[in-house]
Amino acid sequence: MLSDRVQRIGFSSTLRIAAKAAQMKKDGIDVIDFSIGEPDFPTPNNIKDAAKRALDANLTKYPANDGVLELRQAICRKFKDESGATYTPDQVLVSTGAKQSLYNAALALINKGEEVLIPAPYWVSYPQMVNLAYGNPVFVPTREENGFRITTEDITRHLSARTKAIILCNPSNPTGSAYPASELQKIVDVCMAEGIFVISDEIYEKLIYDGFRYVSVAALGEKVRKNSVVINGFSKAYSMTGWRLGYAVGPREVIEGMSKVQSHSTSGANSIAQWAGIEALNGSQHEIARMRGEFERRRNFVLYKLQQIPHCSCHKPEGAFYVYPNLSWYYDKAYDGVEIRNSAGLAYYLLKQAQLALVPGESFGTDDFIRISYATSMKNLETGMERLTNALAKLTPSRKVRAASLNNTTTKQKDHVALQVVTDARMRDGLTAEATSTISYDSYNEWNVNIGGVVLKLITNSPHLADFWAENWFPAPLESDLEPHGVIYGVKDAPGREASAFYHPGSRSGFVVNTAHYPQVRSMALGMVEEIGGAMFDLQLVGGACVEVNGKGIALISPPGTGGGTHFASLLRRDNARIHSYDAFFVRWSGGKPVADAVERKLLMKTELVEKLPELTRLFDRSKTENVITKRDECETEACMHSDMCPIDRGEARCYYASERSRGFIDPYWVGQDKHVKRTTLSKIILLKRESLGAKVTKPSTDAAMKILEEGAIISARGAYRSQPFYNPYLIDTTGERLERQRRQWRRLLEAAPLVVINTEAMRKEEAIEAVGKEVGY
Ligand code: PMP
Repeated sequence: MLSDRVQRIGFSSTLRIAAKAAQMKKDGIDVIDFSIGEPDFPTPNNIKDAAKRALDANLTKYPANDGVLELRQAICRKFKDESGATYTPDQVLVSTGAKQSLYNAALALINKGEEVLIPAPYWVSYPQMVNLAYGNPVFVPTREENGFRITTEDITRHLSARTKAIILCNPSNPTGSAYPASELQKIVDVCMAEGIFVISDEIYEKLIYDGFRYVSVAALGEKVRKNSVVINGFSKAYSMTGWRLGYAVGPREVIEGMSKVQSHSTSGANSIAQWAGIEALNGSQHEIARMRGEFERRRNFVLYKLQQIPHCSCHKPEGAFYVYPNLSWYYDKAYDGVEIRNSAGLAYYLLKQAQLALVPGESFGTDDFIRISYATSMKNLETGMERLTNALAKLTPSRKVRAASLNNTTTKQKDHVALQVVTDARMRDGLTAEATSTISYDSYNEWNVNIGGVVLKLITNSPHLADFWAENWFPAPLESDLEPHGVIYGVKDAPGREASAFYHPGSRSGFVVNTAHYPQVRSMALGMVEEIGGAMFDLQLVGGACVEVNGKGIALISPPGTGGGTHFASLLRRDNARIHSYDAFFVRWSGGKPVADAVERKLLMKTELVEKLPELTRLFDRSKTENVITKRDECETEACMHSDMCPIDRGEARCYYASERSRGFIDPYWVGQDKHVKRTTLSKIILLKRESLGAKVTKPSTDAAMKILEEGAIISARGAYRSQPFYNPYLIDTTGERLERQRRQWRRLLEAAPLVVINTEAMRKEEAIEAVGKEVGY
């Protein structure tokens, strides 16, 4: 339902920590808040009085879109006095906060796909604003030892033909660092030479310490003024965050564009705030100096306290009201058995253990740091710094061996695309030609595998597909004259094509194009083996799990929405159960008995299964995984039962139940020597079904069972009906002779291993587990 635009952005993690801290405060917990981004002083009286006068004078009508003229004149005067820069009122746009000014600039300047350089660490909203404008943020990392300032080389290294603009935050939120005039001049010179437009966010310009001489980009000459917008506002300097007042100055054309954007969204900023703003700029600046002095005293105190914390480094900020210490030394330490892995984990630990709210550096694009805002009272700073020091001292080296970092691949395409069966030989030739020309020699991978006696070759230019393919199956012997029975081309970056999948039965060739979603390739491989092996040696493919219990093979067919994962997990929990296969196996006949053959070297499982089998967590941690959620913003589980204990918030590298589309490989050997089996004789087939009116457990005759299976009626969790013959999602073809083969194979199997239908709609979960257990023979 949501637009692509909104899906390009995430929620601010800064807000998440703030929300957690607020909830704790509401619950009566004494939280010290170092996460606040606003001065703790009241707005100066002369400004409030001006607002009162404006109210009494009834200046309460719609103001001009661009801002009250007197305010724009005051802004021009400010630039003339402080930076020697001439702007006329038509080069000024007053907005509802500097935030709106920045957003207006993003929409007015950036075209789809254009790149905007953003020095990191960055203020959280810059990348999201660029994303909202369909631009691409390009992060330019800075170094702590360089005072978090970018250099001219940093800029040139990140340039491309699509670079449009740069967003400078000077002084910076979160680091507090500011550019001395000479350095700023060099940066801006490179931007002018390369045709990069400068967006300079100067909202903290008045909060400057140690006699630092602040220079606005507006002071750097006419050419710079023609190619930059300066963003500023009243929130920080005049302690007016709630008034929502900011502004932009720049070349007339750009300001006009921004004005158009604003005229169709909020239009003119609050009129009373604007009259207050005039007083702020024209009236006494005495209060600013007082607040600045107080901030400097607090900054010095926080820096002094940080110096006493072992293994902590911190740049001495020139401005703003933040310090940004590096606390990464603590990341592999633990408290009470819980290991801290990153800045989010540390912030979570400090919030829970020390009742101290801080913003993790991850939010600003640099995970080694944590942001402390000293826009709070000296008393709070004293208590908070004490808590920080003590909490860090409690962390001890973790005894756990740190898991290797997750071996996870995120794919662009996350679902199956429909498989198109191609019978036309010319089309097949076209697809082969396209595949061979796209898979160039320097990105070529091929690998033969043996799946149930059928040899398939994957040819691909996707390292991810090649990697998963080799992990999944047993390799086929590499005899020189060995010709595979079938070939799959995994083609990435084929020009002009959507994600698609084709199969040509005549030549036994499959094509998976512009999707690296591995389950697509695996499904195609299983379908092809069924086709080829079925024709060659009557191989039967069953779409279901298999476990061996007390020496008996039990197949568990569980269409989506029937609770298959729960039942699979509860069967495996039993002492005498052994894992055989997860969602597909082959049936062969041996001495007149049906034998289930597990043909995968590693089983590709849904990682959300850890909810039911927590012991799998350890295994997924060391296996290859696809589309596991590693960032909180990407979580797909809206009503998460674990939100308060979110593993990612707590510093874990991943969450296995945040998406039902994430998969990981499990090696059955890892589950335990006597906990898995490769072959087992089938004695029963359990079909889980949802039927609102049906009986709880039925044991149909072979004829009736055939009807049920062939119809393959599936009701999904959302109530949609679908027919999937023999409950087998891997069958490529269910017509003509292929269907005839299925019928014959299933009738033969049902005579040896009868079907039991368990209606999971008609009973509670526990009852269903018991019913399955009873059928299995417990
Ligand atoms: N830019 C920066 C760097 C900021 O830190 C903030 C406030 N957190 C803003 C802009 C937004 O300011 P305003 O209140 O004027 O919207």
